Amino acid sequence: MKKKQEKDDRRTPGTSVVAKTDKGVMAGKMEKIISLCKRRGFVFPSSEIYGGFGAVYDYGPYGTELVNNIKTAWWKAMVRENDNIVGLDSAIFMHPKVWEASGHTAGFSDPLIECRKCHARLRVDHILEEAGVFADEKMSEEEINKLLEENKDKIECAKCNCKDFTKAKKFNLLVKSNLGNFTGNWEENPVYLRGETCQGIYINFKNVLDSTRVKVPFGIAQIGKSFRNEITARQFIFRKREFEQMEMQMFVHPDDEMDHFEEWKEKRWQFYLDLGIKEENLKWHEHENLVFYAKAAWDIEYDFPFGFKELEGIHARGDYDLTQHSKFSGKDLSYQDPHTNEKYIPHVVEASAGADRTFLALLSEAYTEEEIEKENGEKELRVVLKFPKKLAPIKVAVFPLLKNKPDLVKKAKEIYDSLKSQFMCEFDDNGNVGKRYRRQDEIGTPYCITVDFDSLEDDTVTIRDRDTMKQERIKAGELEGFFNKNLG
Ligand code: ATP
Repeated sequence: MKKKQEKDDRRTPGTSVVAKTDKGVMAGKMEKIISLCKRRGFVFPSSEIYGGFGAVYDYGPYGTELVNNIKTAWWKAMVRENDNIVGLDSAIFMHPKVWEASGHTAGFSDPLIECRKCHARLRVDHILEEAGVFADEKMSEEEINKLLEENKDKIECAKCNCKDFTKAKKFNLLVKSNLGNFTGNWEENPVYLRGETCQGIYINFKNVLDSTRVKVPFGIAQIGKSFRNEITARQFIFRKREFEQMEMQMFVHPDDEMDHFEEWKEKRWQFYLDLGIKEENLKWHEHENLVFYAKAAWDIEYDFPFGFKELEGIHARGDYDLTQHSKFSGKDLSYQDPHTNEKYIPHVVEASAGADRTFLALLSEAYTEEEIEKENGEKELRVVLKFPKKLAPIKVAVFPLLKNKPDLVKKAKEIYDSLKSQFMCEFDDNGNVGKRYRRQDEIGTPYCITVDFDSLEDDTVTIRDRDTMKQERIKAGELEGFFNKNLG
């Protein structure tokens, strides 16, 4: 039975089983977003032709463009706009001691229960949260089981509504590999796939300090994949087992830690507003139960279709990280101030965001349905992704009015070729122009250019605006200037 359950848990949910709200009600908007993502090439379930692979997803052509634009915006806001932040790209594999030092091998675990009827494995903190009960992440297995017993009438299986569960067990989230282990016994001395990118930053603190001109306070920023054996595959790309983090660790003087923390709280909030997210869809969540070394931990939450959930964590982590790595590696990771000669272990302020959750937040923000009137007076539902122009996967689509008129196709291709190296463009001659507009609306393309018979006479084209659907005629030679001005 257990074997069967493990197999089931690896199966990727299709579009129907992942979009549950906290109240267990299917979220219509979420379903529509998931379906659009598949239909229009944003997100595909991993290994779909083999029946899928639970909580792992692939980005399709437009998803890849969007996630790249998100990462570029983050990199710009972090590395390019802050003189004292430098970038890093550390390896996914690290020495196993890294995870001992960080506390992940001992403590990176979620308590789990199994439904005796449908054998779904559920996270205790989630199931209790849905029943309005808070489970502290520091609780022991015994304390969690006591809390479950006290609240057994309030909790039920999210899948089959049954109330009969096994006892809770803690489950480590680190993903093991057999890298470099040729004995075949990979339970012994496993090498892990990184569970977070920031450990790669801490272990390179000294290298960056010694090889560049940074001085405390300075930050190291990194974007990269992380891996967690997440127990519940929920809410589409919100909780993946392979996901991408965008993390910045600021190394600061102990006396200044809270000032930096406040500064980064403000900067990170502003980042989401600059991405076009409406302020009413964001909120702060302060962690009440801090781990022993932390001074403060706040999350920025976004109002996803399934409710407010974490988008990014901003934490004041004290000297825990560098102290631990000093202890476990035997290397001195202290910093000596070149002016005062004061020697200390820098404290860390971290801003830890997820590329996938930002992606989902942007889709959720952009997804719009509008009733429009067609030329023949009929009403039609228009689905449009109103991304901020700078984030849109495709910036400009170029159409010949008719695909069977070589002169129109030739001119449209010339225009496309003249723009494509500067702006992400797409050439489309499939179906009629109306259909092409609908398709470009659904992938969020801000501008569509149509080459028609007048274009051959006077070298003008129409530009259609995604949001207003208004068309204007401009000279082909002015297109580059127009897009430079309007694509920001
Ligand atoms: P949660 O409580 O939702 O599991 P977390 O507090 O464990 O998240 P962190 O360890 O602080 O998350 O990771 C930083 C960021 O990485 C999160 O704010 C989120 O955006 C992203 N992230 C974490 N886990 C996942 C995941 N399984 N799938 C997608 N993104 C994730």
